[in-house]
Amino acid sequence: MAINLCELVLSSASSIQLILPLTFLFRMEKNTAEKVQVLIIGSGPAGYSAAIYASRANMNPVLYQGIQPGGQLTITTEVENYPGFPDGIQGPELMIHFEKQAQRMGADLRYGLATKVDFSSTPYKVWIDDEKLIEADAVIIATGASAKWLGIESEQRLNGYGVSACAVCDGFFFRGKEVAIVGAGDTAAEEALYLSKLCSTVHMFIRRDEMRASKIMQDRVMNTANIKMYWNTETDEILGEKSVEGVRVKNNQTNELNTIPVKGFFVAIGHTPNSEIFKDWLHMDEAGYVKTIPGTSKTNVEGVFASGDVQDKIYRQAVTAAGTGCMAALDAERYLSEKGLH
Ligand SMILES: Cc1cc2nc3c(=O)[nH]c(=O)nc-3n(C[C@H](O)[C@H](O)[C@H](O)COP(=O)(O)OP(=O)(O)OC[C@H]3O[C@@H](n4cnc5c(N)ncnc54)[C@H](O)[C@@H]3O)c2cc1C
Repeated sequence: MAINLCELVLSSASSIQLILPLTFLFRMEKNTAEKVQVLIIGSGPAGYSAAIYASRANMNPVLYQGIQPGGQLTITTEVENYPGFPDGIQGPELMIHFEKQAQRMGADLRYGLATKVDFSSTPYKVWIDDEKLIEADAVIIATGASAKWLGIESEQRLNGYGVSACAVCDGFFFRGKEVAIVGAGDTAAEEALYLSKLCSTVHMFIRRDEMRASKIMQDRVMNTANIKMYWNTETDEILGEKSVEGVRVKNNQTNELNTIPVKGFFVAIGHTPNSEIFKDWLHMDEAGYVKTIPGTSKTNVEGVFASGDVQDKIYRQAVTAAGTGCMAALDAERYLSEKGLH
């Protein structure tokens, strides 16, 4: 619709009389709701997998990509653990495959950010970029989660070149090497233990003089011979030009600086699920992960489904996100059939 109108405006640009009514039509389009059967929010592995399944089930899904088309894998380099690629694949390339496949199946992929929702009655309302209103019989949320970072320049510069926020994803690249990890919670403890099985030494930096992790996890970390703990220690700089070569840390009690040669630097200070706009409608845990009924993608609102990292604080992998995206599309299909809407 918008493209046709644009063409019309261009072809009749000399006619003032035509342009004025067209401005009115543009405004009409902005304020008029568009009705869709299935709306998918997010374009990571979960969103695109949901789009592939929903398209193949003739549900004509519309997918909004958000500010990171392709999702988290677009900011990484080598992905070696996604099945089907025996030689590994670059993250951005993998996501182009996902996108093309969803497109080939007929999914309507669009730029835009969901900024507000109203799940009080059906069809559900979702506003895109604060202006366009979509009304959907079913909504699949696949907005992912964002890793928290320390916020230092070298961390950003070397991201994907030795700096990572995912030990399960990238630990394998540092087999037999020394690595560092920052974090003090259960996830940091788990990631340190995972790395200790692959790497020669894991240097673990803790900002305070104690860990936040549960006692059992702390005991496991402290009883692992190749995990070396550094208390009251903060990262001052990650060293290296093209890849990580070391880390300079500071003891925040004595201000003493210490340089440790490492090849990998893992940040494990938590993730933020991208669930803010749903918080008035959906049940979430204390960290903001959307709660789903175990074994399904169903949320507490009938016809609203959640998939991928936004509802998964445990596995957080591309393959699990894709799997739950598939579940969400199948759950949506059954829901629409039961309601006689499909
Ligand atoms: C550096 C790095 C390396 C990784 N390496 C691996 C690896 O090697 N193997 C592996 O299996 N996993 C890896 N992961 C984890 C993997 O990327 C995630 O588990 C996976 O991407 C989660 O998929 P998802 O679809 O749930 O969400 P995401 O990939 O996070 O995508 C979320 C999508 O939602 C969109 N979105 C968010 N909010 C909105 C909104 N309001 N409106 C519209 N769209 C919105 C975003 O634009 C994005 O497209 C890595 C992660 C990182 C950060």
